[in-house]
Amino acid sequence: MGSRTGVNYTIIRRVCIIDLAGNGRTFAAKYKKITMTNLVLDKELPAVSKLSTVEKSSGKGDTMKALVYHGAGRKSWEQTAKPVLQEPTDAVVRILKTTICGTDLHIIKGDLPEVKDGRILGHEGVGIVEETGSAVSNFKKGDHVIISCVTSCGKCEFCKKGMYSHCEKGGWILGYMINGTQAEYVRIPYADNSLYAIPAGSDEEALVMLSDILPTGFECGVLNGQVKPGDTIAIVGAGPVGMAALLTSQFYTPAEIIVIDQDNNRLKVAKTFGATHIINSAEENAVEKIMGLTGGRGVDTAIEAVGVAATFELCEAIIGAGGHIANIGVHGKPVTLHLETLWSRNISITTRLVDTVTTPMLFKTVQSKKIEPKKLITHRFKLDQMIEAYDTFEHAAKEKALKVILEN
Ligand code: ZN
Ligand code: ZN
Repeated sequence: MGSRTGVNYTIIRRVCIIDLAGNGRTFAAKYKKITMTNLVLDKELPAVSKLSTVEKSSGKGDTMKALVYHGAGRKSWEQTAKPVLQEPTDAVVRILKTTICGTDLHIIKGDLPEVKDGRILGHEGVGIVEETGSAVSNFKKGDHVIISCVTSCGKCEFCKKGMYSHCEKGGWILGYMINGTQAEYVRIPYADNSLYAIPAGSDEEALVMLSDILPTGFECGVLNGQVKPGDTIAIVGAGPVGMAALLTSQFYTPAEIIVIDQDNNRLKVAKTFGATHIINSAEENAVEKIMGLTGGRGVDTAIEAVGVAATFELCEAIIGAGGHIANIGVHGKPVTLHLETLWSRNISITTRLVDTVTTPMLFKTVQSKKIEPKKLITHRFKLDQMIEAYDTFEHAAKEKALKVILEN
């Protein structure tokens, strides 16, 4: 989350702390001042944590099962408090289908130390609205909804610009700074702007792909990469998000789509999704091959969908004059910017955290079967097989896994 550098801020938020869950106690100990009615943060934190991280239990003894993170390397499927409404703008949603994301694996590895012990993971899914706060007007109990991975108030300066990812009260918080969707129930703040209605009769499994991977591949890769008809594009990384970029790039009919990965199974799948050329960068020299394919000119757009230095530098090596390098990958380490070769090449480099502003448009393309993201689903589990599903997803190459679906 390179673009979300920490900022100093003070936020006063009215939080009535009636019954603190475990998170709340940690929280209270860590930050300066906490009272029964006000929670004051004046500490440098990532912008995403501006929302209260205090999760209350219902106080009625209602419980549910959820995947709970317990510090680096530790997770469990356990009984925990069922979420309740905390703000008039909240909804509580009963999960019908959810999935596991590469980001969840990063959290479990301990790559995101800001995630606290006790956090329920997951930021993707579809469900049924169970309860709504008094200020929610777009949804009611019983509505089927897509849960967006990005929470947005719809009212702040960033939301008004369509940059929901940097919403002053939301952004990516679900399964990160607040409890997420790998559970029987989830609380969704700003439900009116953070949920999307599902019409009756829809294929809800396919719609899980709209929570995160489709808008991420499309907005960060295809839109920022300015893919145009006749272009030659390269997609580095054939995981679910790279595949989402592959599917959605074809809205713009690029002439050639070169997909690069080190997993032959994923490359084979990429071919069935519309890749015109596939390159296994572990077996052949990707730069030489791409330069050969493009008559030495390089590609018009290079989409980086891995998040390591080697794959970003590959993009720098294959980008043609006037081209666009569109980064999607979550980078944990610095990358060398080769200005010694790129300074005169008229290129642009973009970064983006998905805003999910294209979700309504993508929804129509899925409903009309212009794209079929359901093909990305390789494994299906019941919700209480969560640990087994994680095992499969953690060994994606061996298991030939792309997206796993968990059904409640
Ligand atoms: Zn995700
Ligand atoms: Zn906002």
